[in-house]
Amino acid sequence: MPLPFTHVSFEAAYGVASQLPATDHHMEVAFAGRSNVGKSSLLNKLFNRKSLARVSSVPGKTATINFYRMAGDVRLVDLPGYGYARVSKNEKRRYSDLIGGYFEQDRNIVLIVLLIDSRHAPSKDDINMIEFLVEAEYPFLIAFTKSDKLSNRQIKERMEGFKEEIPYFEDIVTVTTSAETGAGIERLKELISDVTGYTD
Ligand code: GDP
Repeated sequence: MPLPFTHVSFEAAYGVASQLPATDHHMEVAFAGRSNVGKSSLLNKLFNRKSLARVSSVPGKTATINFYRMAGDVRLVDLPGYGYARVSKNEKRRYSDLIGGYFEQDRNIVLIVLLIDSRHAPSKDDINMIEFLVEAEYPFLIAFTKSDKLSNRQIKERMEGFKEEIPYFEDIVTVTTSAETGAGIERLKELISDVTGYTD
């Protein structure tokens, strides 16, 4: 039985990593990516909810780590979007403290879904994140977002680009998604269900 993605509820938001509750018996699936990549939209699409995660046309708003509970002791962790240029140095520091603080803790992270906009070359922050995840040997996959904004030919071209731009590309599981059309969402659900091994 696949994970029931509809039985999800908001657990809590944390603005400081030291306040995060212990993992306990939970399996954590974390979502990361740059601000405005479409993380909230993708989460809402996965959960089949209109506004469980806040979608914004103004980037750089999520300065908290948000926890969501699913059935089967699975917790989804929405990490703050990084790399938004128009926030203060202090805010940027807070974002990276939050993300770094999360990874420094002894948590039962079973998967990290790293989101990258399918239209653009990865940012330096994206590359840093990939290198960190590979070096620390975290299980992760890349979800390319907003694929509805590209034609099939453009997607193919961008994939050729990603092959060159993304380190270890051949070894990374990828899925091309759209929160708009639902493309890739079932595949992403399968990949999450695989690692959590959840059966009803
Ligand atoms: P976040 O900052 O990563 O949480 O990104 P949001 O989910 O708030 O989305 C940022 C912007 O991109 C919003 O204007 C969304 O409507 C838009 N967006 C997100 N996902 C998609 C998608 O799959 N297709 C299209 N066309 N737009 C999207």
